[in-house]
Amino acid sequence: MPIDRRTILGAVPVLLAAAEPAAGAPAAPEGALPGAYRYRLGAATLTALHEGTLARPLEASFIPNAPIEAVRAAMAQAFLPTDRLDITFTTLLIEAGGHRILVDTGFADNGPPGTGGTLRGLAAAGIERAAIDTVVMSHFHLDHVLGLRLKDGSLTYPNAEVLVPEAEWAFWMDEAAAARAPERLRPNFAAVRRIFGSGGPRVTRFGWDREIRPGLTALPAPGHTPGHTVFLLESEGARLLHLSDVTNHPALFVRHPDWSAVFDIDADQARATRRTLLDRAAGERLQVAFYHAPFPATGHVARAGDGYAFVPVQWGAPG
Ligand SMILES: [Zn+2]
Repeated sequence: MPIDRRTILGAVPVLLAAAEPAAGAPAAPEGALPGAYRYRLGAATLTALHEGTLARPLEASFIPNAPIEAVRAAMAQAFLPTDRLDITFTTLLIEAGGHRILVDTGFADNGPPGTGGTLRGLAAAGIERAAIDTVVMSHFHLDHVLGLRLKDGSLTYPNAEVLVPEAEWAFWMDEAAAARAPERLRPNFAAVRRIFGSGGPRVTRFGWDREIRPGLTALPAPGHTPGHTVFLLESEGARLLHLSDVTNHPALFVRHPDWSAVFDIDADQARATRRTLLDRAAGERLQVAFYHAPFPATGHVARAGDGYAFVPVQWGAPG
């Protein structure tokens, strides 16, 4: 059964509360270049793909446990607008051990204007969609999972085995959880069922603390969603911790890890997870990647005061 595009598109603003660009949001110029940043980790080649950016008005409801004045001050301190938040999406292609692995999909062609860059980035990088053998999902929020299918219902990555967290699958596929879901999550439940339903991708579920591809280990990071997962990639002694949605924008939630964005399903658990993983990254000096950090969404995390600071990478040498 093809995806009902109206339902999917209808779900996006519910999740993001910001399908429409906010006033003053920067629009990509006509014919914008694809955003792709390729870097190495040991013998692995990674390509960060700029899926896009959506702006949402910055209102008190976005971080219910922080005064809006403090939130605006944190934005100003990071030289960012204080009336809106530009949320960036970055998917990550890992080429390692003979595999081509895409971590999260973005929206493909199902999203609002300003998204869909993963497909353009792959094309620019010379990688066919059919050449991707593995898609790994961190969790099932729509900005991560919608791109598994194109809007005509066909599979975006027709040859990929799609690896999904067991706990995430259990939550979103559970009829009882769907029935008692708050209003704002209902479209997400419906979309997940369509995406993985008839004609959907080949799915394999994984448990935490397992190597799901050589050198790629899935680690628990629950709270943002019940099965939310981060990934440790190791190659020839080099390590990168992909923090998925452990934080939304680093200027807010790396700097202030106890603040909770409205997207976290279990705010207390998400906060504990955030503290644990940011502290691990800082303590072990791990390179990190995020889904929602400014592009290319990779760098390091340093301890700073009662929180942390995100230190972006220096753009690598061309070649
Ligand atoms: Zn997300």
